[in-house]
Amino acid sequence: MPRQAWVFLLALALLASCSSTPDPVDPPPPVGPSGSACVPTGELARRYGLIERYEPERNRLILEGPGSRVVLFPGTTVAMVNGTRVRPMRRISSSSDRTYQLAPSDARRIESMLRTTKKSPAPQVPTRSLRPALHAEKPRSIGPVLDSTVEAAVRIPLKRKWKYIILHHSGTKSGNAAAFGRHHKQVRGWDGLGYHFVIGNGKGSGDGQVEIGYRWSGQLTGAHAGRAPDGSNKMNESGIGICLVGNFNETHPTANQLAMLRSLVAYLRGYCGIPMENVLLHRDVRGTDCPGKLFPVRVFTE
Ligand SMILES: [Zn+2]
Repeated sequence: MPRQAWVFLLALALLASCSSTPDPVDPPPPVGPSGSACVPTGELARRYGLIERYEPERNRLILEGPGSRVVLFPGTTVAMVNGTRVRPMRRISSSSDRTYQLAPSDARRIESMLRTTKKSPAPQVPTRSLRPALHAEKPRSIGPVLDSTVEAAVRIPLKRKWKYIILHHSGTKSGNAAAFGRHHKQVRGWDGLGYHFVIGNGKGSGDGQVEIGYRWSGQLTGAHAGRAPDGSNKMNESGIGICLVGNFNETHPTANQLAMLRSLVAYLRGYCGIPMENVLLHRDVRGTDCPGKLFPVRVFTE
C-alpha cells in the first residue's frame, strides 16, 4: 500500500475513537476518569443534575432535567442540546457495558450549550432544599433530579441518623410496595413493608416509579438487612432500604429503575449526609446474593 494511504488510514483511525489518542489541540479534559481523555456521559449528567436513560429501541441516550435535555445517538456524530444540533461533533463512543464517552471538546461544547440554552421553567422546588441538610458536604450537582412530588415526600424531617443505604432486589418478576408489605406482614410477621423505598419495573407499578414506605414517612427502623455480623440491628436501625422490583439473578434492572435509583441515592446521600462508601448491597452485610448477580455494581462508580 502506498505511504499516503497508510497515513490516511492512520488519520481515520485516530478520528474514529476519542479514546485512542488525546486531541493535541485540546487542553486536558475538565472531568472524566484519570488516564482517560474522554468524558463519560454519566459524569456530564451528574455535573448538571440530569437523569441519564438509554432507549435501546431508538439507540438514543437522553440526559434530562428541568429545562435541559441532551439527546445523544451513540456510534454516530449526532447530538442535540435543547433542540439544537451540536456541531461539529465527534463520534459518541460506547462500550459493551453501556457506558458512553464524549471527546473532551464535545463535552465542553455541550456544557456551554447547556448553560446558554437552558429553558424555563426553572425547577419547581427551591434550590436550597436540594442541598445537604445535615452535613455541609462539598457542593455536588445533585440537582433537581427527583420529581417534585417524590422530592417532597422524601424531604421530611429526619428523626434518626441514617448512616447507610442498602440496595435490594425483590427476587420476584413483578410487585409493588403494597404487595411486598402484605407478604412481609403475613409471611414474615412484621408490621408491614420492610423497605423504606420500592422502585418499580413496570410490572405491578410504574417503570422507575418510586414508592415510599411507611418506615420512611414515619422515620422507622427498617426490616430489610438482617442482623449485622456483630449481631446488632444497626443496619436496619440506621440503614435506608431501597428495593428494586425484579429478580436480578435472571434479568437486568430496567434503565428507568437505574436512573431513578441513582437520583434517589444521590438525593438521600446529600439529604442525610451519607458517604458513598456507605451505599451497600445487601450481600455486603449479610450472607445472601441480593440484589442478584446481574445487578450492575458499577452503576454508582462509573
Ligand atoms: Zn435484600
